[in-house]
Amino acid sequence: MAEEYIIDVFCSKCRSQIFRYRKEGEGHLMKCYTSNVLRDFTSPENHLQCPECDTQFARNTMIHGRPAYKIIQGKVFVRR
Ligand SMILES: [Zn+2]
Repeated sequence: MAEEYIIDVFCSKCRSQIFRYRKEGEGHLMKCYTSNVLRDFTSPENHLQCPECDTQFARNTMIHGRPAYKIIQGKVFVRR
């Protein structure tokens, strides 16, 4: 059975919150499936950029046929 848990995702540069996210499985956060983003703190105009400092932290992609954001390593940190 796949494990799921809720994490908060923050900007590494300014520590602003970016997402609340339902993560599937253990391990480093490499991607976010769009359907698992529970709260999105970014603005629609500058999506995938930090709402405070405008750092881009991810790119749109498809993973296993599901729309996802590929995290740019080093741009975010997470807390459970
Ligand atoms: Zn930031």
